[in-house]
Parts: sequence; structure tokens; C-alpha cells
Amino acid sequence: MSAHPRLDAALSYAASEWPVFPLWWPVNGRCACGKPDCQHPAKHPLGTLAPHGVKDATTDSQTIRLWWGRAPLANIGIATGPESGLVVVDLDPRNGGQPDRLPGPLPTTPTARTGGGGWHYYLAHPGDGLKFPPKLPGCPGADIKGGGGYVLAPPSLHVSGRRYSWDTPPTHILAPCPDWLLNAAKRPDPNPTVTPPAVHVGNHGTAYGRAALRAELTRLAQAPEGDRNNALNRAGYSLGRLVAAGHLPGDTVRGLLATVAEKAGLLPQEVERTLRSGMNAGREVHHA
Ligand SMILES: [Zn+2]
Repeated sequence: MSAHPRLDAALSYAASEWPVFPLWWPVNGRCACGKPDCQHPAKHPLGTLAPHGVKDATTDSQTIRLWWGRAPLANIGIATGPESGLVVVDLDPRNGGQPDRLPGPLPTTPTARTGGGGWHYYLAHPGDGLKFPPKLPGCPGADIKGGGGYVLAPPSLHVSGRRYSWDTPPTHILAPCPDWLLNAAKRPDPNPTVTPPAVHVGNHGTAYGRAALRAELTRLAQAPEGDRNNALNRAGYSLGRLVAAGHLPGDTVRGLLATVAEKAGLLPQEVERTLRSGMNAGREVHHA
């Protein structure tokens, strides 16, 4: 038995390109963090070393040596998701999760028994922008760790005192996700941008004016909350100049901007005021 079992394990995961970070560990059936009401005993990030939690997960051996040098008993979290190349199917029998209750069989792949008596099946993340739901639909007790999350890895200790251990070791090749699992994932939206509700700018004005109007409406529709009034002001200003230059009819511009702005959550009075000042400023610049 190694003198530094957790450090050695963390380093070996990192060598497989699985990013790791330190978690709290159990002491006498309680979380070592010391909080009497700890909600995730021996499962939450060790904030003094990894203040951003799973975002601090790394494969850098120097950092890993430093972390487990400072906290040799720290449990090991492995980051899941496209960045780490891992999807983990997490079966918890306490909630009904069982390998034979899944929509299909799981391939032979690195598999850990969890300290809670369940299973972690490590699978290759398909990438491609695929997004997995946190729970497998129709399968109670079956979670999918497919992005932004983490799993506890052997030889971490569960708060019950049981140790996470490998059934099929991580030296086994990582199997691809079976089709039934891929079917539960969401394909990325091929057109993720918010389509502004009123891109039908008609055939008023010049082609140049219409292109500018379409661009401004898109920008306004996508403006984050808190910047919408500014966005409306900027749009009113730049389109005001085009109205003054004869590229666009003022009524059309005002109507479309108001429609998009109100759909984006601005109040009609705000829209009216901002538009007037924006468009006036734009017109003045043109005439100056
Ligand atoms: Zn705790």
C-alpha cells in the first residue's frame, strides 16, 4: 500500500487526462469541514485549495502534488463533461438505480462502486456539443454526469466509512456512450441565436438601410438585461442618422424598434423616451 494513496490515485487520473480537484473527507462519520449542518458531507470542494470547485480541476501534476501535500486525506473529485471527455452514469440503488433497470445494457468500461453502494460507469463523452440531462428520463436513481459536474473517485471515503473502489479499473478502455444514452442527450440547436421577433423590415428604404435596421434589431433583441435601454439608445441613434439621410422611413424604424424593445422587456414609456432622444441625437449628427 502506498504511503500516499489519494495523491497517487489523483496523479494517475490526471495522467489519463481526467482533471481532478480536492474535496472534503469524513472524520468519525461527519464532514471534516466542521459545519454541523453540512449538506454534502465529504463530497463538497475543499474551498481553501480549490475556491472555484470543479472549475479548478486540473491534470497538472505540480498542482495536484501541492493540493494533496496540504490535504493528504482529501477525497478526489473527477470533473465530468466535454472538457474532461467523460460522461458518468451514476446509479444509486437507494433511489432505485440498478444496472438492469436501464433502457439498455452498459458496455464494459471503467466502473467504480460508490461508497453509497451504487455504481459509477465512466464513458467517453461524444463531444459535438451534446448536452445530457442530469437525470436519465424514466429511470429513478440514474443520474448522468455529463457536463459541469463531478464524481468522487476511488479511493475516496464515503461519510459512511465505505471506500469508493474500482470494479473495472480505469486502465480499461473508456467505452463510448451506448445509443440509449445518446438518445437521452440533446443535440445542439443549429441556430442558437435569438431570432428577433421583427426581422421583417419590409422593402422600405434602401438596401443599406434595411441591412442596418436588421442588424440593430438583432443586437437589441440579444442585448442582456441591464443593457437593453442602452442598446435601444444606440440603435435609435444610429438608425436616426439613416432616417435623416433618407435610407429608412422614420415611422417604420420607430415601430420596429418599439416592437423588439418591448418584446425584450422594456416598458413602452421607456421605449418611447429612449427612442425619441436616440433618434433626435442621430438626426442632429447627420445635419451637423
Ligand atoms: Zn462539509
